[in-house]
Amino acid sequence: MSKAITSTFGYPKIGENRELKRALETFWAGKLTKDDFFKQTEAVNQKRLEKQKAAEIDLIGSNDFSWYDSLLDLALSFGIVPEGFRDIEDPVELYFAVARGTEKAPAAEMTKWFDTNYHYIVPEITGLPVLKENRALRSWLEAKEKYGIETTPSLIGPFTFLKLSKGYGSEAFDSLLATLAGIYGQILSELEQAGAKTVRLEEPALAFDLSEKEIAAVIAAYGIITKDRSVSVYVQTYYESLSHYEALVKGLPVQGIGLDFCINGENFENIKTYGFPEDKVLIAGVVSGRDVWKTEYQKAFALIRDLFALTGKSEIILSNSSPLYHLPVSLNQEKGYLEDKVLALLSFADERLEELNILKNAVNGKGELPVQNLDEIRKSFKNEAVQKKVAAIDVKNVGRKAPFAERLALQKEILHLPLFPTTTIGSYPQTAEVRKNRADYKNGRKSTAEYLEFIQNETKNVIALQEKLDIDVLVHGEFERNDMVEYFGEHFDGFAFTKNGWVQSYGSRYVKPPLIYSDVSRPKPITVDSITYAQSLTDRPVKGMLTGPVTILSWSFYRKDIPKKEIAWQIALALREEVTDLEKAGIKIIQIDEPAFREALPLKKSKQREYLDWAVIAFKLTNEQTAPATQIHTHMCYSEFGEILPDIYAMDSDVISIEASRSKGEIIAEFHQIRYDHGIGLGVYDIHSPRVPAESEIEDIVEKSIAFIDKKLFWVNPDCGLKTRAYAETIPSLTHMVEAAKKLRTKYR
Ligand code: GLN
Ligand code: ZN
Repeated sequence: MSKAITSTFGYPKIGENRELKRALETFWAGKLTKDDFFKQTEAVNQKRLEKQKAAEIDLIGSNDFSWYDSLLDLALSFGIVPEGFRDIEDPVELYFAVARGTEKAPAAEMTKWFDTNYHYIVPEITGLPVLKENRALRSWLEAKEKYGIETTPSLIGPFTFLKLSKGYGSEAFDSLLATLAGIYGQILSELEQAGAKTVRLEEPALAFDLSEKEIAAVIAAYGIITKDRSVSVYVQTYYESLSHYEALVKGLPVQGIGLDFCINGENFENIKTYGFPEDKVLIAGVVSGRDVWKTEYQKAFALIRDLFALTGKSEIILSNSSPLYHLPVSLNQEKGYLEDKVLALLSFADERLEELNILKNAVNGKGELPVQNLDEIRKSFKNEAVQKKVAAIDVKNVGRKAPFAERLALQKEILHLPLFPTTTIGSYPQTAEVRKNRADYKNGRKSTAEYLEFIQNETKNVIALQEKLDIDVLVHGEFERNDMVEYFGEHFDGFAFTKNGWVQSYGSRYVKPPLIYSDVSRPKPITVDSITYAQSLTDRPVKGMLTGPVTILSWSFYRKDIPKKEIAWQIALALREEVTDLEKAGIKIIQIDEPAFREALPLKKSKQREYLDWAVIAFKLTNEQTAPATQIHTHMCYSEFGEILPDIYAMDSDVISIEASRSKGEIIAEFHQIRYDHGIGLGVYDIHSPRVPAESEIEDIVEKSIAFIDKKLFWVNPDCGLKTRAYAETIPSLTHMVEAAKKLRTKYR
């Protein structure tokens, strides 16, 4: 075997102790001067670079730090500014105005990044992009001059940038791509003059299914970018195998191609079938940027050995398979916190750096591979009873037996709901007091009895509030839940929780995904006490509130040695026990939230069918044993459903509530088109903003909707949970919502 060198990109931006969050939030609160904000954020970046240098990484990524979002950075550097913000001159003010909105203009649209739980700000291209600022050059110079590190700057490439942007017509795609290519060429030329040797252009969108025309356009664009350049350009792909492997790997006029070998075996198979060009460098993503499980050294080493043999290369660059920011920063604080056996299975971003170095040294004959016993540990966690139950699922017969019409008739008799029933999505405002009490309980400053009393009191208040507001179907408020996935994970077997495993979700919002390290089961009822307590306080129906299997799976780090669908079904069976217990305890309506259902859809069309099939089964498993008279609700956010709407229908819930604040018209038309004939609650106002909707606006939305959707099936509710809102806006908003429903009831009676 020959020589390996290492490279990294997308190392986490947040700081080992969430320093970036603190800097941002104190700056936004006006408690930090701009200069201090610059200093603090620069220090976070310096630490990232120096850590990677200390870990002896050969090609360290730069330009992968961002205050808020890298795509926003790029858009602004191309002069792409949404309409409402063009009069803001100060660049820092402009940056956060676009990201977070101002009094005058709402924030730019934010959406999920590929199939991850990261969110990016969608660039809106209305004019011609121009190079306003060469950020890559600035980062490269900063790393070199301030910290003495020669880096490989990384940018999202022009194809991915354009694919994820909006505001232009499809006919403008090719010419915009060519314009962007010219700009990237200029960025590269300036980097080259400054002395940079390599640049990485990240093109995850090359994992999508592409048309012939797109392939030609992207190859042409890279022709423009690299024409007359001496700097080496590496195109990095990830999250899935490179689509149209042969055409792109051969056709792209660049010096190197980065491939993800962790996500699945497809890139490897393609190299076997089609080879790899002699004149290009292979950047092999051999340690995962997406999951937290320790690299299996023997397997990775064998893969690298095969890659050398198949490609005939004398040198291969080893790298992370996808950006490292989907991982927490470091395992340091987990030592002594997580169970040793669980800890032994894990690697976060810093540990990935070590792994790269270990693999490099082994390839270069400078070190041995450490001995691992990962299989043994995993086996020791096995729960055979759970595995048997999953194996026994009869996939063809999963689901409720009574058809919807029959169920609806029975539910009507029991529930006595008016036309346009009103409800909310589950959570009520999580005030500072609620958060403090939960933290006090966790830290042992409050006893279980004291804490329970506090939570019950909150529930009492929120039930009284909902009765006063005259809402028809009530909720218990979710005060005991810190996070809708964490809460269930904490009560299931097979989950572990980190102390400091934060991952950026968007801006200064970070999440701490649970670790599903073993087979999943439910030792005892989870929500029954809190829901039945809430129900005991009122004659109106209270909805039982659960998080669905696909969402629990997607927002956790799950095992890679067990098929995803099996884990989802394990979770579904655990939830089914909960549903049964709620029903037994007299709860008439049960909501099973699946906000991650759409986000988890695979990037490649060829894989979507399989996912949808098992995901629908997972949902149906949770409630298939309920009586026809029990009403099952589900809730989804980010409602760009489009083609998957028939599958959402196949989930067979009695009522679905969805977020539809953005593109109401489209969604109504889509539901109409597939003749969706179960209950629908289209969000009638946007809870992501503190704005109080007028009663007339809400009426208007309902009127527009029932032009297409059967009014007897229409529910009136906000578009998501109220957790992040304050009571100050929640009470007037809900008042208007109920008034609107009442007016419409009289009108359409
Ligand atoms: N029931 C949850 C809540 O109201 C749903 C949250 C979500 O859709 N993300 O908070
Ligand atoms: Zn939601």
